[in-house]
Amino acid sequence: RVKGDGRNGWCYYRAEMDEQLQARVEMERDLKIALAEGQFQLYFQPLLNLDSGDIVSFEALLRWHHPVTGMVSPAVFIPLAEDCGLIGALGEWVLREACRQAAAWPQPWRIAVNISPLQFRHGSLPGLVRKTLKATGLDARRLELEITESVLLADETHNLKVLNQIKGMGVRIAMDDFGTGYSSLSYLRTFPFDKIKIDQSFVRDLPHDRNATSIIRAITEMARSLGVEITAEGVETPAQLDALRAMNCREAQGYLIGRPAPGIEAYAPRKCA
Ligand code: C2E
Ligand code: MG
Ligand code: MG
Ligand code: MG
Repeated sequence: RVKGDGRNGWCYYRAEMDEQLQARVEMERDLKIALAEGQFQLYFQPLLNLDSGDIVSFEALLRWHHPVTGMVSPAVFIPLAEDCGLIGALGEWVLREACRQAAAWPQPWRIAVNISPLQFRHGSLPGLVRKTLKATGLDARRLELEITESVLLADETHNLKVLNQIKGMGVRIAMDDFGTGYSSLSYLRTFPFDKIKIDQSFVRDLPHDRNATSIIRAITEMARSLGVEITAEGVETPAQLDALRAMNCREAQGYLIGRPAPGIEAYAPRKCA
């Protein structure tokens, strides 16, 4: 800022930026190796139907076991994979692995797979979904794709076409992190989602916060009149679950019901000896 220390200040920030850039370059290089070396794994988190008390579905959540730094969060490496052009290959792996595992489950549970906005741009998603279902033998009706509204931001007409092709196969589409974007409502009008997932930032403030309660109640009522299913994300306490039940929310997901885990064995029906 001041002339006198400007040079030092500049040097300091430059060194810090170099370090950040360096770390990023290294992680991008490691990401490319990771796919080839099998360092990725899917975890599964259950979704509970509050009417029936049954587990009805699992969301696949990607994990990266980095050989040096340990577990890296998808919140960190998904954006990197998008930047370095790896998201296509990674997304393809996730979809195939999720469908392959779900096809072998002992119950007809659904599998929900997160799709990066960039996977839409390149237009080949319907083909990939069709190919993957065929290769794994998974019934299309058991697959649900989770997208955030940013998917629809870029080229709405193209993306709507892509989503409609996928829906046409019998695959379900859920809007993830509902309420966090700028135009969630307008997308509900434009595109017939099968499900809305209320973002965990609203659920976190239940049951005492009146604003969060009002917003969730409004979303669940709107979803019901639109004929769209609804899931609350990030349910951590019995009090939150009670509040959601009272608002006629149909499905819940969160640590209270089950943490993401590498397998679904904990939920499989017990075999009698
Ligand atoms: P998301 O799709 O909204 O997934 C929900 C996130 O909330 C997961 O974080 C999950 O572990 C976490 N969560 C679940 N229950 C609770 C709870 O009760 N409390 C709290 N505090 N958190 C809870 P995770 O696994 O770290 O994933 C973060 C995000 O990364 C996901 O958000 C999704 O956007 C993205 N992601 C994960 N796997 C994939 C993938 O295979 N492909 C793509 N494109 N994105 C993925
Ligand atoms: Mg999700
Ligand atoms: Mg979410
Ligand atoms: Mg999220």
